[in-house]
Amino acid sequence: MSLSLYNTLTRKKEEFQPLHAPQVGVYLCGPTVYSEAHLGNARGPVVFDVLTRYLRHLGYQVRYVRNITDVGHLESDADTGEDKMEKAARAARIEPMQVAQHFTNRYRQHMLALGCLPPDIEPQASGHIIEQVQVIEEIIANGLAYEVNGSVYFDVPGYNEQHDKEGRYGKLANRSIEDQLAGTRVGLEGQSEKRSPLDFALWKKASPEHIMRWPSPWGEGFPGWHLECSAMSRKYLGELSDIHGGGLDLMFPHHECEIAQSQGSHAHTDEARFWVHNNMITVNGTKMSKSLGNFVLLGDLFTGPTGPLAFGYSPMVVRFFLMQAHYRSPVDVSDDALQAARKGYRKLMNGLRLLDKLDVSGSLSVGSEENKNGPATDSQQLTAEATQLLQLAAKPAEFLNDDLNTPRAMAALFDLLKRFNTLAANPAALAEVGPEALAAAAGTYRTFVQDVLGLRDEPRANAEQLLDLTLSFYSEAKADKAYDKVDVIRAALKSQGIVIKDTKAGVEWAYSEE
Ligand SMILES: [Zn+2]
Repeated sequence: MSLSLYNTLTRKKEEFQPLHAPQVGVYLCGPTVYSEAHLGNARGPVVFDVLTRYLRHLGYQVRYVRNITDVGHLESDADTGEDKMEKAARAARIEPMQVAQHFTNRYRQHMLALGCLPPDIEPQASGHIIEQVQVIEEIIANGLAYEVNGSVYFDVPGYNEQHDKEGRYGKLANRSIEDQLAGTRVGLEGQSEKRSPLDFALWKKASPEHIMRWPSPWGEGFPGWHLECSAMSRKYLGELSDIHGGGLDLMFPHHECEIAQSQGSHAHTDEARFWVHNNMITVNGTKMSKSLGNFVLLGDLFTGPTGPLAFGYSPMVVRFFLMQAHYRSPVDVSDDALQAARKGYRKLMNGLRLLDKLDVSGSLSVGSEENKNGPATDSQQLTAEATQLLQLAAKPAEFLNDDLNTPRAMAALFDLLKRFNTLAANPAALAEVGPEALAAAAGTYRTFVQDVLGLRDEPRANAEQLLDLTLSFYSEAKADKAYDKVDVIRAALKSQGIVIKDTKAGVEWAYSEE
């Protein structure tokens, strides 16, 4: 069975076949780096991290591009308001690029903590002005954009006439022209330059006080937000990429505009074959967003308490929580849900520890070509116990193949773990499984937990607390005059680079300076 993904563009699950196997190009719309990331901002990166990890597990060579938006994202989707970056910079009285750098650094730290592998390319919008200007020139040459007072707008009605066959503007979000018109706010500042309220900005003239500005054939200005992704996806993944991802809130207008820009440029493509959208995080059923103020910042979430949450949760627990729902379903954040996730995460980690204790040093490699979808079940003559175990081990891949169903894949890993626990308590059954099948199933468990789901063992305990506990045992042993125990504890700590000091104030520890 091969991987199938739900394609927003066709509104159905489709078998995933790369355009140029074994290469796969994935583009994820990244953050606008003007403020701290909140939990809602983390869902997309985690979902697409699992997807790229799984594609790699299937043997594909993935080029994963996740951009940084550091210019052009205005406060309103209607091409009006201040640039988000400049507004933050003005408030803090610093350079916009300082704001961008600061929040880019923070974002990378948080994503690494959440176990998201760094993208292969992380292009910045401000570093790709030339490419964006080129796309605008192509769209103008194709008669689908016009200049007014130093700004350039995309001509949506003109595009619809020209692209009836490829699908009109609105085909991705499945929105009729009437719907789109109802969503526009006619009469807003800057809107008067547009020939149609449906048109969107490709280039905006910079007002005198605007800091981020670049020269262009239309005078000094800055690119429209939607343009960067079309230009950078094309530069790094070609005129048609395999997968373009983002949150459902980006589907319209952002992704719709991207498709129109690519169709309207010399690329003449939908930019990506698969358009994949993750659903939102909700708080008490309402979408978590900056504008609604019901967000939980990642930095605060890891330490807690914050907002609706009474406790903090470690990055791996948060990652587990995000994977526990299917990516196309909304997921509601609460202490109950995060505590359940913590329980599940710890259970999976205990599974890794159990496997370390079981002797699973068989010779079968689960990472080999024929075993990409889990270990083979038809090789040799397997015992009933072995067959049963290998069938359980094949399930996580089956569920991920079905539109990346992480919750069912995780449930399958729990089933497999349950079986390992049963076997660990029953040596006769374990012997009947045999070392090869056991090694194969254990390898699958490890691979899916660690490499595909990206869950790693977080430090299990606070080292300082463990040290204090050891010192209290030391003091007790000394008081009891149990000098053999005292020596054992001293030696054990010494081997960890810690020396015990008996002072008048009591027992203390210090780093060994030897
Ligand atoms: Zn984008």
